[in-house]
Amino acid sequence: MRSLTIRRPDDWHLHLRDGAMLEGVIGDTSRHFARAIIMPNLVPPVVTTVDAEAYRQRILAAVPKGDRFEPLMTLYLTEQTNPDDVEEGKTTGLITAVKLYPAGATTNSHGGVRDLDKAMPVLERMAKIGLPLCVHGEVTTPEVDIFDREAVFIDTVLDPLRRRLPELKVTMEHVTTSDGIDYILSADSNLAGSITTHHLIINRNAILVGGIRPHYYCLPVAKRESHRLALRRAATSGDSRFFLGTDSAPHVDPLKECGCGCAGIYTSINTMSCLAHVFEEDEALERLEAFASLNGPAWYGLKPNDETITLVKRDAPVAFPAKIETGAGPVTVFDPMFPIHWDVEATR
Ligand SMILES: [Zn+2]
Repeated sequence: MRSLTIRRPDDWHLHLRDGAMLEGVIGDTSRHFARAIIMPNLVPPVVTTVDAEAYRQRILAAVPKGDRFEPLMTLYLTEQTNPDDVEEGKTTGLITAVKLYPAGATTNSHGGVRDLDKAMPVLERMAKIGLPLCVHGEVTTPEVDIFDREAVFIDTVLDPLRRRLPELKVTMEHVTTSDGIDYILSADSNLAGSITTHHLIINRNAILVGGIRPHYYCLPVAKRESHRLALRRAATSGDSRFFLGTDSAPHVDPLKECGCGCAGIYTSINTMSCLAHVFEEDEALERLEAFASLNGPAWYGLKPNDETITLVKRDAPVAFPAKIETGAGPVTVFDPMFPIHWDVEATR
C-alpha cells in the first residue's frame, strides 16, 4: 500500500503547555489532529472550570489561522475539587474528563491526590454523570521500583477503585506494560487505555544503552522489549479499548539535557508518520484508522471526524526537523531511529 486515507485523527492525551511554548507547538497538532484531550498540569494546574475556560481560550487564540482544532479540556483532580463545579463543566460541554495524577508522578504533579478517599465525592459524582477519569497509572511510593510502578498502581489503587465504583469510566493513559494491557483486556466495561506513539517504538534500551539519552526519557518510563511488543499487539489489534494518546510533552532542550532532566517526548510533528510505519510493519495498516480516529471518539461518546487525512509512502525518507524552535527555546523532536517514509499529504 502506498497511500492510505483515514478519518482525521484525534489525540487523546496531549500537553500543550502555555504562553510561548503553546504558541510554538500547537500548529504541529492542529495540522493533523481535529481534537485533543488537553492535560491540565500547568503551573498552577487547571483545577476549576474557570481555569479550564481561560486555558481553552488561550489555546484557541494560538491555533494557526485556517486550522480547525477543538481542545477537549480536563480538570486536574485535587483533594479539594468541587463535585458541583465538575458537573457544571460536563453539563456545559467544557470538560471531557478529569485527570488523576498521583502526587509527584510526573511533570508538575506535586498538587496531585495523596488520599483517594478525599476525592471520592467527586469520583462518585463523575460516575453518576458519566464523566471519565483519566489516570496517570503509577504509584509514587519511593520503595517501588520505577519499572514496577504501573503494575503496582493497578493492584493497589486502580483495581480497588474500580471495585468500589464500578460505574466510573476510567481511561488508563499511556499504558506501558503488558500488565496494563492485560488488565484492560480483563475488564468487561468502563475501562479503556491510551497508548503513545513512542512506547510503540522504543524500549528502555533507547534511554540507557551507549550513553544516557534524555530525549527518550518520559514518564511512565519505557519498559523492556516484551512490554513494547504487548503494546504493539494491543494497538494494532483494532480492539476498541485501545486508542492513540501521544502524550507529546515538549520541554526546552536545556531542561532535558542537564543533571536532572525533565520527563517528556515531543512527537506531535511526526506521530502520524511514525504510526503508519509501525502499523505497516505489523501488517495492520487497515487498523490504523481504528486506533487513531475511531476508538477514542467512541469511548468518549463523540462522533468521529468527518474530515480525512491521506498518508502517502514516499520513496525518499521524509525530512522532519531534529528540533523545532519555539519562543520558549528549542524542543528536540522524537527520533524513531528508523527512516520515515510515510508522510501526511492532505487534510480535507
Ligand atoms: Zn502526559
